[in-house]
Parts: sequence; C-alpha cells; structure tokens
Amino acid sequence: MAGKLIIGNWKMNTRAGTAQALVQSLLADPVCNQPWVAVAAPAVYLAPLAGSLNQHALQLGAQDVSAFAKDGAFTGEVSAAMLQDIGCRYVLVGHSERRQYFAETNPALLAKMNNTLAAGMVPVLCVGETLEQREQGGYLDVIFQQLSILGEVGDGEYVIAYEPVWAIGTGKVASLEQIAEIHTAIKTWCLQNAKPSANIRVLYGGSVKAENAESILMTENVDGALVGGASLDAGSFRMICQAAGKLI
Ligand code: PEP
Repeated sequence: MAGKLIIGNWKMNTRAGTAQALVQSLLADPVCNQPWVAVAAPAVYLAPLAGSLNQHALQLGAQDVSAFAKDGAFTGEVSAAMLQDIGCRYVLVGHSERRQYFAETNPALLAKMNNTLAAGMVPVLCVGETLEQREQGGYLDVIFQQLSILGEVGDGEYVIAYEPVWAIGTGKVASLEQIAEIHTAIKTWCLQNAKPSANIRVLYGGSVKAENAESILMTENVDGALVGGASLDAGSFRMICQAAGKLI
C-alpha cells in the first residue's frame, strides 16, 4: 500500500480544552489534516473531538476497547460499537502500557481485535520486546507470540505497530538496522500465518521525533509511525507528518 500512516497516541494526557486546541492546530494545517494521519485521544474526549473532525480528513482513534462485544453489565467499559458510533477509525490494541499495567494478554487482545474489525474499524495491534527480552536474544519469539492471535483474527484491514518497550518514552530509538530486521520478520510472519486476504501495514513506534522521523519512515518495510510524546506538540507532530508526506 502506498503512503505512510501516522498515528499520534496522546495516552493519558490533555484536558478538554487542550485536546481541542491540539486538534484545531492539526486541522488548520494541510500537512496534518490528511486521511493518513490520526490521533488516538483519551476516551472521554473522543466524542467532542469527533464533532470537530467531522468533514475533515484527519482521522480519530481510540487507545483501547472492551473485550466484551455486546452491550451489558460491564461497568466502565467502552465497546467497539460505541467507538464506531462516534466516528473512530482506529483502535490501539495491546499497547505495551496496557500489557504492563493492566495485564492484558492474548485471549483478551484477540477479542479486542475481532470486536474492532466487526465494528468496521481498523485495529492497531502493538507488539514489542522488553530490554531484558532483547538482551536475552529471544526477542523475535516474543514478537511472534504476540502476533500469533492474527491467525484467529477475521478478515479485514489491520495495522501492526512494532514498539520496542525499551524505546517507548525513553528517548532511545531502535537503530534503523534493528527496525528493518523486525519489520521484515513481521511481514514475513504475516505472509505465512495471517489471513491471505488481510491488508496489513506495519508501523514503528518508540521515541519517533521530528529529527528521526524521515530516516525511520524510509527504512525497509516501515509503513508509518505510532508517535507518543511528540504527538502532544503540534509543531513536532507536524514535522513528522511532513516527513511522511514527502514519501507518498
Ligand atoms: C507510544 O507510546 O506508542 C510511543 C511510541 O511513545 P513515544 O513516542 O513517546 O516513545
């Protein structure tokens, strides 16, 4: 698929006013207001942001979704149908912070993937190894184990984000060789194990910034970026989108 996909992950940041201000700056900028750019905002701000994004190219994403598919007595949960209802296109699934702090594992992540697809949205499955796992050498097996749910995921469009845990929010970026190795391994794994009809893009995430975006985006088998910290600053995010725009 031609072109890069850029998704900003705001995590548990912003307030109603700052979230709107950030989206308004992105909307006012043709470099960012593109169908291949999305922001994953905190759940409580999704509905008002969806209102602002109506009729614009910039896309909206959620940072999580319930593993429960049907409406019911699941206090505190937000379903895929609800996210689709208010206009989300992307849903992050299995971000390393959810795996670490909320003990999310493959069975729940498979349900989240399938619920997202069934609701007509695009899941973004996040995978990646810890520093310890990399140093022990078994990092590819860790990633393949995280990917293994794709064998059971329904048909459709989905995204994989390779995010080495040791590079998230740390300022440490994987080298271009490390990124190329893993992205190529993920694509090869998908060709052999995912549904043949699946339409899959592989993003890199982990301290992507204005300064390193272009070289990362030009790396073999990198189809875009999942951007955390730098997506909270309109100027930095703009430069990342600009780097992606040049590669279309
Ligand atoms: C992320 O959390 O998805 C991420 C990539 O964060 P950062 O860009 O801040 O490393």
